Amino acid sequence: MAEVEKVFISGLHEELAEDRVINEKDLDPEFAKEIRKYGGKNVMTCLQCGNCTGVCPISLKIDYKTRNIIKCCQFGLKKYTLGTRWVCATCYRCYEHCPADLNPAEVMIALRHIAVREGIVPPFVKIAATNLVKYGQSVKPDPEIDKIRVELGLKPVHADQERLTAVVREIQTLVHATKYDKLIGIQEEVKL
Ligand code: SF4
Ligand code: SF4
Repeated sequence: MAEVEKVFISGLHEELAEDRVINEKDLDPEFAKEIRKYGGKNVMTCLQCGNCTGVCPISLKIDYKTRNIIKCCQFGLKKYTLGTRWVCATCYRCYEHCPADLNPAEVMIALRHIAVREGIVPPFVKIAATNLVKYGQSVKPDPEIDKIRVELGLKPVHADQERLTAVVREIQTLVHATKYDKLIGIQEEVKL
């Protein structure tokens, strides 16, 4: 994943990156609009109440909390938002507690769309997508799992090879038709 710069916004200072002066060139006045284009609501309606951070299950694990990310979005600090949203679990708890009906979860999803289009694709996304187009599932099949399944009297996960081939072909067709393979750089894995 490309190096992402961080800037002190608020929160626990020592857990965040060093202070940085924000210059005008760091601000993207079109950023809120771009977020809307990719499915997010208007971040300018955020009240900065912090409810989203309070209920977020991963807020203790990330440098920028949900509220901080939304604040960066309000400022147009696009380059500072391009790292932490990948850990969002899209659980939508923030949405349930947002008095502004902003739905931070969908802002996170919009930020992912934007990041991918800017060439920021975390390795785990590529790995999961590669597994999907190769095996029809995001996790690589594990022979140990099949062994346990057989011991339990179940068929191995991919017992029906013909069906698996058809499923993989369908997935590859969709991935290729939508240009998702090109977008995240897994074209060589698609064998149509
Ligand atoms: S809960 Fe909503 S209004 Fe409050 S800080 Fe989060 S996004 Fe903003
Ligand atoms: S949807 Fe994402 S940002 Fe919102 S509470 Fe869940 S993990 Fe946190």
